[in-house]
Amino acid sequence: MELISVSPTATAPSENFTGTVYVNPIYQGTGESRMIVSLVRFTPGAHTNWHWHAVGQTLHCTDGLGLVVSRDGTVVHLRPGDTVYTPPGEQHWHGASFTNMMSHLAMLEETADGASTTWLEPVSDEEYAAAHRA
Ligand code: MN
Repeated sequence: MELISVSPTATAPSENFTGTVYVNPIYQGTGESRMIVSLVRFTPGAHTNWHWHAVGQTLHCTDGLGLVVSRDGTVVHLRPGDTVYTPPGEQHWHGASFTNMMSHLAMLEETADGASTTWLEPVSDEEYAAAHRA
């Protein structure tokens, strides 16, 4: 076995995220494994851009109150212990609520040629606000 000690906390890049978001890489598979796991911590109001994942993504909320929203208008209000799966190609965003931090484990895989996430445009203020009302 292999101990992977706690990683330094990085700040998520502003070209793909709104607000302050902290990321700790947990695991990136090698060889046959294409698993990627990160702990992502969103401050209140912070969220991703619209995006989609080549092999889907599983989000597991560990703390706080958050939102996961798909392009068809489906809104999940995320609470600790909840898990949301977004299938390959489904456009979505995720993040904290206006009022609370939100932390989730983000679990995904790369394709054989290394594709994982395709980033799109920022979520508009109106889209972000509307998700809270849904
Ligand atoms: Mn995602």
